[in-house]
Amino acid sequence: MIMQRYVLPELPYDYAALEPHYSARLLALHHDKHHAAYVAGANTTVEKLAEAREKNDYAAINQLEKNLAFHVSGHVLHSVFWRNLSPRGGGEPEGALADAVLESFGSFSGLKSQLEQAALSIQGSGWGTMSWEPVGRRLVVEQVYDHQGNIGNGTVPLLVLDMWEHAFYLQYQTSKGEWVKAFWQIVNWPDAAHRFATVRRLDLQL
Ligand code: MN
Repeated sequence: MIMQRYVLPELPYDYAALEPHYSARLLALHHDKHHAAYVAGANTTVEKLAEAREKNDYAAINQLEKNLAFHVSGHVLHSVFWRNLSPRGGGEPEGALADAVLESFGSFSGLKSQLEQAALSIQGSGWGTMSWEPVGRRLVVEQVYDHQGNIGNGTVPLLVLDMWEHAFYLQYQTSKGEWVKAFWQIVNWPDAAHRFATVRRLDLQL
């Protein structure tokens, strides 16, 4: 058996650990309610698809396939997001990730401004991500609609910035730019570097 149920991961720090940049109340709601809902939604959708196969009833197939992409992607992105943050965050990437940022974006500020602009310009709910694109073997910024739209197949997110209103409104209200500034203060570059070291071995066999 290779399949597993989706499980809400525990936060790698206390609720108040990211203050003042990210309030304990906001973190608790975001993790315990919003992320938990995607985990539940992913498991429910997998069950409903099994039922549909058993009954050979695909009347709801379009909705179920959309739900699968939405909830699984929501779970993946939030799980990466918590580990992308740290009470001892901030600064700039180092080592091999710093080299790749330089190669892919020209400079650290090139990455920073592209990711900020992509994140701040999302129409509706979504994410800005720095992802590994294994075919061209480069880092890319992706502007993700909801949790799953507007991304290229095969890319893997290394650093993700949640721009859904639920991610910032309680603390930052309409000041999206302030939320993005705060994100850079708590960003966990060693975590992104660790992901990069793992994912750069990915070979899509094209
Ligand atoms: Mn979120």
